[in-house]
Amino acid sequence: MTLRERLEWIFRMALLVFILASVAFLSALTAMRFAIQGREVSVPDVVGKNAVEAQQMLQGRGLVIKVEDRLYNPLPVDVVVRQTPPPGMKVKIGQEAHVVISLGPQQATIPALTDRSVRAARIAAQHGAKVMLAEEYRVGGTCVIRGCVPKKLLVYASRFRADFEEAAGYGWTVPQWSFDWPTLIANKDKEIARLKLESMGHKLDKLTPEQEHYLASWQEGT
Ligand SMILES: Cc1cc2nc3c(=O)[nH]c(=O)nc-3n(C[C@H](O)[C@H](O)[C@H](O)COP(=O)(O)OP(=O)(O)OC[C@H]3O[C@@H](n4cnc5c(N)ncnc54)[C@H](O)[C@@H]3O)c2cc1C
Repeated sequence: MTLRERLEWIFRMALLVFILASVAFLSALTAMRFAIQGREVSVPDVVGKNAVEAQQMLQGRGLVIKVEDRLYNPLPVDVVVRQTPPPGMKVKIGQEAHVVISLGPQQATIPALTDRSVRAARIAAQHGAKVMLAEEYRVGGTCVIRGCVPKKLLVYASRFRADFEEAAGYGWTVPQWSFDWPTLIANKDKEIARLKLESMGHKLDKLTPEQEHYLASWQEGT
């Protein structure tokens, strides 16, 4: 065998080895891919499902449920609010699926309001209670509409006379002053109207027939 023939033979053998090695490598890669894909499952949609039902659904696909958190939510107690990974995602068997479970809507303790003031009703409403105010005159109560506020405005108005009379003794020159009762009353009424609950952004509805019926039976003590 000449040197040239020998070199050709070595080259052919090297090419053959390379081709065989490439085929073996590609086969291994494909086999690994199939093996991995075969162990993947699609994550089921468990949002809105009861925790026990969600656990069964996840276990059925070889996944492990992990409760990440519990929080107040409009959904009923023990219902799944959120999940990770999202539904439909392909994951490996045995992977954890994280869920957040509902504690139900947050409850507020409603204080006893019978025979309590309008302020108590407002505080209860701030805690989420539905409060009904039944008012025969103007909503606002005695203090705002008839008592504290109008009284204070009239008392403040009454003080100026003495101040004007005494001002000269302290070196002040006060032009002839006068007092107009209708102006005071009109301005007092304007201020009371401004303080009405409606003007402060509170929504006041007319009574529904059911509420009127309830009120009538309440007044009759039934
Ligand atoms: C002239 C005056 C001045 C006052 N000044 C002060 C003061 O400076 N500081 C202070 O702390 N307190 C003051 N008060 C007292 C204060 O007004 C009351 O303590 C306070 O208003 C009581 O609040 P309430 O929510 O319990 O009842 P109210 O505010 O009296 O609310 C009761 C509401 O029920 C309505 N009502 C009654 N019967 C019926 C019915 N059958 N159907 C439907 N609605 C009805 C009334 O119209 C009223 O609006 C004053 C009172 C008056 C009269």
